[in-house]
Amino acid sequence: MTKRINPFENAEKQFDAAAKILNLNPNQIAMVKTPRRITEANLPVRMDDGSIKIFKAFRVQHSIARGPAKGGIRFHQDVSLDEVKALSFWMTFKCAVVGIPMGGGKGGVVVDPRKLSTSELERLARRYFADLFDLFGPDKDVPAPDVNTNPQIMAWMLDTYCMHKRAYEPAVITGKPLEIGGSEGRGIATAQGMVFCVKRWAKHHNESLEGKSVAIQGFGNAGSNAALLLKKEGCKIVAISDVSGAFINEKEGIDPEHAVKYVSENGSLAGYESTKMANKMDDPMKLLELDVDILIPAALENQITEDNVNNIKARVIAECANGPCTFEADKVLDEKGIFIIPDILCNAGGVTVSYLEWVQNRMGYYWTEERVFEDLKRIMDSAFDKVIETSKKHNVNMRIAAFIVAIERVTKAAELRGLYA
Ligand code: NAD
Repeated sequence: MTKRINPFENAEKQFDAAAKILNLNPNQIAMVKTPRRITEANLPVRMDDGSIKIFKAFRVQHSIARGPAKGGIRFHQDVSLDEVKALSFWMTFKCAVVGIPMGGGKGGVVVDPRKLSTSELERLARRYFADLFDLFGPDKDVPAPDVNTNPQIMAWMLDTYCMHKRAYEPAVITGKPLEIGGSEGRGIATAQGMVFCVKRWAKHHNESLEGKSVAIQGFGNAGSNAALLLKKEGCKIVAISDVSGAFINEKEGIDPEHAVKYVSENGSLAGYESTKMANKMDDPMKLLELDVDILIPAALENQITEDNVNNIKARVIAECANGPCTFEADKVLDEKGIFIIPDILCNAGGVTVSYLEWVQNRMGYYWTEERVFEDLKRIMDSAFDKVIETSKKHNVNMRIAAFIVAIERVTKAAELRGLYA
């Protein structure tokens, strides 16, 4: 059982370690670290049976120093203000580490969307955007999907915004369906960005991905696409999991296409062992402890903690999820020589293609997937190289190095603008 760890405190510890190396003064630390604006709302939504339910909702704009706030909206029963603060904080430094001209934001609603009908979900999504309307805009704050939100929900939110604006402004939200201004490649962008990072790791270590074993926790947008793409690179996917359990086939590997089809037909991986393609693991958390080359946390934060870090055996951890390793666990992973590709770098492919979507919306001119991934690869490769170079220069792990690169950029932007005036 995972210990309750405050994700915002974890994010602050990561920041502090990098800020110390950069010798930031207390004014700079306060200016760059403190969330700029926190909004909390109680959203009334009519249920199908006529009753009215109130849903707690948040939007945190952590930083606007380098551009409009950018970050997804999460629908989950465990969403808390501290979680949204942490996620918006990571967005600031994620945008900075890959050098896209945006700040950090994040939203969340305390809801288990599995318990809502489609029309209830639509009313909740519309109410969120209507009530927080003043926060959003292509030059102010640009949301996107996160856990349990998807292109359809983005479409409802966009429509709500356009109804109030009385104009079509697709650049207000990204991760939209293609038909209404989404970008080619956005659906798999997070996983594709992670694959570019892992390939870069292999290049720096004179290795290839052919035959590498992989375990993936979480089989949603990030995790399932990670499985499909890594299989294409010649990797063997030995274990996958979702909220219903973990499934393993160490000998032959799991066929991700088969598993994706199973999830689309059954809603989740529950019962996947009945297909005889994999066995169910007794304890899903043990997936993280498998002796694999590459471990991909692609679910929620605080999965690798002081409780289980000593049992981690992977050579590389590629963080598709945000905040899956705690600050304390990182220290042990370093001692064990495990290479971490940190979340703010590893999963930045999603926000990078969101940025490219926003650019295309503003031009009103749309690119091919090939063009989008050409830009994504260039951005991810150059960010990876900058972070690994910084990690060698300061003799720190990749996470602290990524924060060093990002904090320098955010601090410089805030000072040039004089954001404290
Ligand atoms: P999603 O809702 O599509 O999928 C989440 C998956 O995690 C589901 O398969 C769910 O069943 C599983 N899950 C939930 N709790 C679990 C648990 N305790 N054990 C195992 N599996 C569990 O969400 P997503 O968009 O794939 O996001 C996953 C992670 O990646 C999040 O941390 C998110 O912030 C991060 N991320 C996503 C994107 C993106 O573009 N989708 C971008 C950057 C970061």
